[in-house]
Amino acid sequence: MHPALVITLVALAVYFGSCYFHPYRKCKACNRSKESHSTTFKGAFGKCRACNGRGHHIRLGARILNQK
Ligand SMILES: [Zn+2]
Repeated sequence: MHPALVITLVALAVYFGSCYFHPYRKCKACNRSKESHSTTFKGAFGKCRACNGRGHHIRLGARILNQK
């Protein structure tokens, strides 16, 4: 087997292993607070629209793993 292919396969295995144990990544928009704060009206807030109030996003690798 080609060395570059072996490296790619190992990298994929590490990535999917990581996605299995840590399937989520934090939402950058709300920084896991799950809330979206109004910049116009002080103190007004709603659920974060970027993550739909979950505070995290499912990683691409975890989404692929969950399809099985
Ligand atoms: Zn969010």
